[in-house]
Amino acid sequence: MEREASFYEKRDDGRVQCRLCPHNCIIAEGKTGICRVRVNRGNVLYTAIYGEVSSVAMDPIEKKPLYHFFPGNSILSIGTVGCSFRCKFCQNYSTSQNPEHPTQYYSPEELVSVAGSRDSIGIAYTYTEPLIWYEYVLDCCKLAHKAGLKNVFVSNGYINPEPLGELLLFADAFNIDLKGMNTEFYRKVVGGKLQGVLDTISEISKHPKILLEVTTLVIPGYNDSDAEMEELTDFLSSLRVDIPYHLSAYFPIYQFTAPATPFRTLERLQEVALKKMRYVYLGNVSGPTNTVCHNCGAVLVERHSYSVRIGKYSRGTCENCGTRVPIIG
Ligand code: SF4
Repeated sequence: MEREASFYEKRDDGRVQCRLCPHNCIIAEGKTGICRVRVNRGNVLYTAIYGEVSSVAMDPIEKKPLYHFFPGNSILSIGTVGCSFRCKFCQNYSTSQNPEHPTQYYSPEELVSVAGSRDSIGIAYTYTEPLIWYEYVLDCCKLAHKAGLKNVFVSNGYINPEPLGELLLFADAFNIDLKGMNTEFYRKVVGGKLQGVLDTISEISKHPKILLEVTTLVIPGYNDSDAEMEELTDFLSSLRVDIPYHLSAYFPIYQFTAPATPFRTLERLQEVALKKMRYVYLGNVSGPTNTVCHNCGAVLVERHSYSVRIGKYSRGTCENCGTRVPIIG
């Protein structure tokens, strides 16, 4: 369904300028922006994907991945089509890079009603990029909060400050994908500007009631050097040392043929990251990924794949030593 978009300006020559993300696309009549889902019709910018859902499922919250947000719970997860980035290694390219992929319409009321009737802590806007779905997501977020449900975002973090500010009023948790610290990699392989993502992460980190986790997909030869990991964790730790950080294994897909990430690469980068960050997890690999109290070493949450057992943890506190730990729920 089409709806008039928020955050755009009309130009005298019939073009419009979208101000939702740092691409700030100037769009001619009948054309779409880089995301392929915001279209200029008659000097008015429309979102073409209002309520258009390409994927819906109940997922473990750990699958987002979010490890410090209601561990062991499930969340209704939805995605749409299109993306503001063009990652050549996209794991969801069949929907993110194909706006013609089939979708089904769900009104915000229907979606919130489905989430409320299942054993779900809320709604996760995920699978593809939720920030380009802005108008629909914001409407759903408002209704979800009224119904006592949580709003979770799994995102590339590419959004301008003004729309982000409005969204933060209704957001409960984010996992932001930080694809490295290399501006050229972002420009050539991802199709965006690194600084836009760093600004979003910095802004979210200032909101203590919103859980922020960060993920990097580690691609051999592109973002797997110790030096880049040091730079990345310098940045994250300058915000907060307790931001949960995920290092995720890449597998060849879409336009990328680089070999899969060796396990030893993830372990090496985890060691580098742990010098500055308290919680560093490995993803897309088998094996346990526990959360351990940084003060006494007690196991707070035990995970094996999506199987979760709560250990010495209760209401944001280590039961063993009483230290506050950054887990919500
Ligand atoms: S949201 Fe889409 S149309 Fe708007 S600036 Fe970003 S890529 Fe361009």
